[in-house]
Amino acid sequence: MGLFSRDKPKIKIQTTKKDGFSGWLKCTHCNELIHTNELEQNLNCCPKCQYHYRLPTEDRIQSLSDPGTFTPLFENLQTIDSLHFVDTEAYPDRLNNARTKSGHSEAVVVGTCTLNDYPIALGVLDFSFMGGSMGSVVGERLTRLIELALERNIPLIIVSTSGGARMQESILSLMQMAKTSAALAKLHEAGIPYISILTNPTTGGVTASFASLGDIIIAEPNALICFAGPRVIEQTIGQQLPPGAQKSEFLLQNGMIDCIFNRHEMKQKVSEFLDYFNP
Ligand SMILES: [Zn+2]
Repeated sequence: MGLFSRDKPKIKIQTTKKDGFSGWLKCTHCNELIHTNELEQNLNCCPKCQYHYRLPTEDRIQSLSDPGTFTPLFENLQTIDSLHFVDTEAYPDRLNNARTKSGHSEAVVVGTCTLNDYPIALGVLDFSFMGGSMGSVVGERLTRLIELALERNIPLIIVSTSGGARMQESILSLMQMAKTSAALAKLHEAGIPYISILTNPTTGGVTASFASLGDIIIAEPNALICFAGPRVIEQTIGQQLPPGAQKSEFLLQNGMIDCIFNRHEMKQKVSEFLDYFNP
């Protein structure tokens, strides 16, 4: 019954059949019954209300790139525990768990591919790896990707989802904000387009650095996009935030982002922007 009593929009897709699991889930947004197959075929959007559930990194790359064109890069960069950080768990243990859980070596996958035949540099953050948090390796892989876009003179696209900076790396994590921003400034000077795509949730140091520096900033519908989350703000200012504050639609109204596209039209819309940028 646990599946049917969730109050937050969050769905786990069960890949192996357990006792009695028929593949039916209740959408936590519209409460309609949906089948996992329908959900998967619909890019993890509810077929009834189009609520955008989290999309695995591989599927995200597939949804934006031309088939078979993605080549991952800089996978040799691996995180080390330079601060010997221990909270409730030692950092190396957390990293190992995250690697097993996500199937990735860090919270970002970067590489090159084509999008409707345009060669692009593509980075995709992975929320299933320690909440998509930005440690040194996430910052370094992204910076190298930006530098590669600069060197090859190809557009850059980064899809963000993140809980922000990685506290286990303290100041080393915060430094990634400056490093990625500085690299993007060079890209900007060279007149190479950068399209930033914000997905649910994009928060903290990621919002406060590269995610907000796109020449075009696109968000998926109903995504939480903020620096500090609503609970923290409400506790700090002792007031309730207006409904929908920090959601894509609210940010569009207030000029923080340029447009909202649903997942199905994202590739086509990005391609249209690339047409526009292309001399
Ligand atoms: Zn729904």
